[in-house]
Formats: sequence, C-alpha cells, structure tokens
Amino acid sequence: MIGNDVARSPYYVTTAIPYVNARPHIGHALLFVLTDALARYHRLKGDDVRFQTGADENSLKNVQAAEREGVSTRELVERNAAAFRALRDSLNLSFDDFIRTSVEPRHVDGVRKLWQACDRNGDIYKRAYRGLYCVGCEQFYAEDELVDGLCPDHLIRPEIVEEENHFFRLSRYADRLIDAIDSDRLRIVPQTRKNEVLSFIRRGLVDFSISRSKARAHGWGIPVPGDPDQVMYVWFDALGNYITALDYASEGELYRRYWTNGPCRVHVLGKDIIRFHAVYWPAMLLSAGVPLPTDILVHSFITIDGRKISKSLGNTVDPVELARRHGVDALRYYLLRVVRTTSDGDFTLERFIRAYNADLADQLGNLLNRVVSMVDRYYGGVVPAPQGVPSVPLAPQAGVEGTQGTHLMDAVLGLHGRVDEAMNRFAPHDALAAIWDVIGAANKYVDDTEPWALAKRRKTDPLANARLSTVLYNLVETLRLIAHYTSPFIPAAAESILRQLGLPSGAREGWSDWGRYPAGAAVQPGRVLFLKIE
Ligand SMILES: [Zn+2]
Repeated sequence: MIGNDVARSPYYVTTAIPYVNARPHIGHALLFVLTDALARYHRLKGDDVRFQTGADENSLKNVQAAEREGVSTRELVERNAAAFRALRDSLNLSFDDFIRTSVEPRHVDGVRKLWQACDRNGDIYKRAYRGLYCVGCEQFYAEDELVDGLCPDHLIRPEIVEEENHFFRLSRYADRLIDAIDSDRLRIVPQTRKNEVLSFIRRGLVDFSISRSKARAHGWGIPVPGDPDQVMYVWFDALGNYITALDYASEGELYRRYWTNGPCRVHVLGKDIIRFHAVYWPAMLLSAGVPLPTDILVHSFITIDGRKISKSLGNTVDPVELARRHGVDALRYYLLRVVRTTSDGDFTLERFIRAYNADLADQLGNLLNRVVSMVDRYYGGVVPAPQGVPSVPLAPQAGVEGTQGTHLMDAVLGLHGRVDEAMNRFAPHDALAAIWDVIGAANKYVDDTEPWALAKRRKTDPLANARLSTVLYNLVETLRLIAHYTSPFIPAAAESILRQLGLPSGAREGWSDWGRYPAGAAVQPGRVLFLKIE
C-alpha cells in the first residue's frame, strides 16, 4: 500500500561489490538481478528502499590486471567500474547509488573512522606475520586448508609472506557472533549456509591480518591511520562500503535512516565470500559499536554447460550480449526462475531458449496477445464493463463462466500472499512459479469459456453478450495484476503489458485489489511481448 500518511518502512539492500579487474560476467548478472528484484519488490510494497552497489577498487588483483595490460591501476579501475555501472541500463537495474572505493572521500573517511573505532576498542594490534598467501584470493591460508599445497580455488601455490601487519582481534567475538546468528538476529539464508558459518565459528576463530605493507600493495589502497607504511587489507576496506556509502563518516541522515534506525539491512552475496560477510564483517561492526546487518542472503554459483565459470576455460557468457540479443527480461527471467537462488544452477543456451519459448512466449506473451486482440475485435478496443460480478453466476446456465471466473479471481488474489511469502524467504523462483500458475490458469480460462463462441451468439443471445464482457474484463484485470506482480522481476515486460492495457505504469494505491481496471479504457495493441526463438 502506498500513501503519504503511511510511514514507509526503510529497506536497505546491497550487493557485494565486485572486483573490477575484468568486465562483468553472468555470475555478476545473477547477483545484480537478484538484488534488483528484492529492491523492486519492496518498492512495490511501498517500502522506502535504498539499493546500494559499487566497485571494489583497492584490490591487489586490480593492480596485477593493470600490470598485465600495461595500463595504470587508476585507468583500469576507472574503465571497469564504468562497465559495471553500465549494467544499470543493460540489465535494467534500479540501484540508487554506486560507490567507488578508491576515489570517494565518503568511503576513505568512513573506513578510517571504522578502523579507529575498532582500534579504540582495543581490537587492533601489530605483530609479525608469516603465512601462506594466495594473491588470487587475497587471503592467507592455513596449511590444512590447502589442497595438495595449492589454493583450493585457484589451484596455484600460495606465496610465503612475512611482514609486520595489523591484526583484528576476531577471537574475542566468537560468542557474540554465535548468539546473533543462532538467534536469527543476523539471519543467514539458506539454512545450510547458516550451519556452515556456525560450525566455522565453533571450531575457533583466529585473529586476522587487516593490513599489509605498502610495498606489497604496490602503493595502492587506503593508508592505515597513524601508520602510513601500511595500507588496509582490501576486505576491511571493501566491507566498509555498506556503511560508508550511507555516510557513516559523519553519521549523516542516510546512515541513521537506513542503518542505525532501519529495520532491514540486507546483504546479498555469493557463497565464496560468506566468511567475510558473516564472520569478519559483523565482528568488525560489534567492535566499532555499529548495529549488525539483519539478513545475509547467500546465492549459489552459475555453472556453464556444467562447468565453473572461469576465464581460463573461456566459457564466460557475456550477460550484456545475451540481454541485447534476446531481451533483458529474458535474461532476468532465466536467472530468477531457472537458476535457484540457493543451489547451483547451470546455464545452457538450450535451457535458456526452452524457458523463454515455453514460459515467456507461449504463456505470458500469448495470453496478452489473445486478450488484447479479442478486446480489439469484439469491442473495438474498449474494455467492456463486467456484467455481474465474477463471484456470482449470472444465471444457472452461466455457472461455468461464473465458477471459473471466481476460481481465476481467487487465484489472482491469492498471489499477494504467495509472492510475499516467497520473497520473505528470498525465493524469487517460487514467487515466479506462483505467478506462472495464474498465467496458466488465465490461459485455461480462455480455452474453457470460449469467448469466440460467445461472440458468435451474442447478437441473438443477451446472456452470451453479458458473459463475453465479463470474461474479457476478468482477463484484462488478471493481466493487470500479473503485470503488477511480475514488475520486480521482468520490469520492461510488465510496463509493456500495462501500456497495451492502456494503463500508466507504476504502482498505485490499492493496485493489488481486484476490480481496479477502469472499464471503458482502450487497449493499445503493441508489438509481440516475446518473439519466439526458432
Ligand atoms: Zn586463491
């Protein structure tokens, strides 16, 4: 419900900010589209949403990529950050803010403040460190975490690094972390990830290095306050973006509204970086006296033709190219419906095309096309008023229409609860399944009520005429609500549906109620919503 007199509830949702050492691939598209669907859904509900994203620019990986290319690090991050920001258009994202960690004073000042807050609390100390460091992961590994002496992710031998570093007293926070996570005050979804984090913490937490020498960082990164020969470890710096973007530095209005007073502080991230988000980050916040996030949604990975995405395999799929060729909604639909949030999903072009043709072209596109053309043909494009409410049979012999109309209306009205329940579980695939049930029911309603037969009889049979107007009104109203509920997931298609129904786009008060379509409005037949891929 949207109204000026209703206090809108703040909802803050973030994506993990990607390294910008290369251009975005389809794994990034999943992260962004999933977070965008959450943001759009909560806007539709009337929440006061802030959707935050950005670029992690202070990583050593960026330095290395720039060296390989023979350009300056500044130039490389500038160019790749722009490519990520441009996903806003190519993936139809609705983020409110894009933070760049290497150039923005709000970020640099904010993480220095965070560091100092942890330091004041006695949680930062300096000591010599010698460890196995994977440059690919930018993290130290314990011997027993390696596979045959190699980094489990990169399958390369970690370097032995020895230097003086600043450490964060993670070991102090085990009990408080367990308490927050176990009680779901910090809710980790799915449950399997929650269990994984809890057992990691219970095995014992070890203080971790949060700085490195300026030399090893090639002079790139945010200097440690009071120790200019050290720069902050990239994770300390990158994680800070979730609050620095809200102006934690001066504890400004955004920070108070969305973080300290906000009821929903949601992080969306991939399963490879869960430890940083569910252990290190909350511990840093506890130390600094800053409230914790409320929700951590961990999504799984996309494999391509059954194999992990990797540049060396040469199997990265360019999401921008895919969206350009088949439409951004086709890509969004696939990512949100076919790829399950919390279990690994495989991308194959064949499955992509199958889902597109079956669900988008044959079901949704076809329904819109049938309904708009029938209104056009039988009523000159003007949507008729229903004669008799759909829950009341017009006459005994019209019972089939009345009962089926009631079933359809009930199914549509049931969407509100089903979609909300699924989205509260962070399960957009279930929300979409519920919507597609209704699309299927609406197509069946057309087949069962046979409007074309009613149209043939209506000159001589007033009852047929009344039923025809009711059937078409029910279908138009169903499509309007389908556009309403699909808008967080396939926003361009939803707008196109509303336009073809002759309605302005955007959510309005009471729009999830039945019977809001203004009879007498004219449909605007447009282009085919989803052209079938041959
Ligand atoms: Zn590695």
